[in-house]
Amino acid sequence: MIDRTLVIVKPDGVYRSLTGKIISSLEDTGLKMIASKMVRPSAELSGRHYAEDEKWLNDVGNKAIASYKEKGVNVTETPREIGMRIRQFLIDYFTSGPVVAMVFEGNEAVFVTRKVLGPTEPRKADPSTIRGRYSSDSYDLADRNKRAVKNLVHMSEDREIAEKEIALWFSKEEIVSFSRSDEEIMYK
Ligand code: ADP
Ligand code: MG
Repeated sequence: MIDRTLVIVKPDGVYRSLTGKIISSLEDTGLKMIASKMVRPSAELSGRHYAEDEKWLNDVGNKAIASYKEKGVNVTETPREIGMRIRQFLIDYFTSGPVVAMVFEGNEAVFVTRKVLGPTEPRKADPSTIRGRYSSDSYDLADRNKRAVKNLVHMSEDREIAEKEIALWFSKEEIVSFSRSDEEIMYK
């Protein structure tokens, strides 16, 4: 099924000049970039992007607790409290520099993008992914420096969230319709 996803090169990715490699890694799979812009996000936009969604706050908190437990660290905060702390770190991270926001479209765009860019913690991400190849950052280092994990990119979690995120970052006029020259070879 053809779907669309939002990809954002975070400030560390822009500062490290990895934007081109990130775009190529997705284009190489056959995904098509149908919108792009470089912006310095406001706190308002960043806050709306990382909305106070109960499921997300708890999921992020639970992932963090699992990694603390692996290290034998005692946790007293609730998952939601940890989620809220990380959300503020993310807003600070997003507003700290330029980002490149893009929309990619293609077969299973949400799924393929998550596979190519890799899981959240670069330390554990496979070296064949963008996060695993270009970063070694860890929950531990991020915690010690009181910041979000610098994992170079944001990408939507699922199709429904993708459509909401695309609408937040792009107007309809900013999204372009065209065919890649190899679409027929790939999809027909
Ligand atoms: P993903 O970006 O892989 O979809 P999440 O949606 O779970 O990951 O989290 C959003 C972002 O929050 C991550 O990309 C990362 O920058 C940051 N983050 C997540 N968990 C932590 C954590 N335990 N400590 C610091 N930053 C975190
Ligand atoms: Mg996410």
